[in-house]
Amino acid sequence: MSSRWIPRWQTIKINVNQREEIACYDQQTRMYACAKCSPECLKGGIPDRGSYFFNEKDLVDHILAHKYALWEKKRPKQMEIEEEEENEDEED
Ligand SMILES: [Zn+2]
Repeated sequence: MSSRWIPRWQTIKINVNQREEIACYDQQTRMYACAKCSPECLKGGIPDRGSYFFNEKDLVDHILAHKYALWEKKRPKQMEIEEEEENEDEED
């Protein structure tokens, strides 16, 4: 493939619940990436997978969700209530 996304990551700090978190911002696509999901971005690499957001607020919401590690943990036996809209489909 000749057309390849070459991100120009910038490490940014964002404020999540009074705490400072590191995240990545790509100057090329103007997207934010979660540094927890895609630590490669901190080194300027191209993450194979990850979570990308178009605005900082969505990124903050996502990082807050890490607290519960919704997709990393085994799911609780019952997850009857989906409080958020399903917009996490990019996640594995
Ligand atoms: Zn993440």
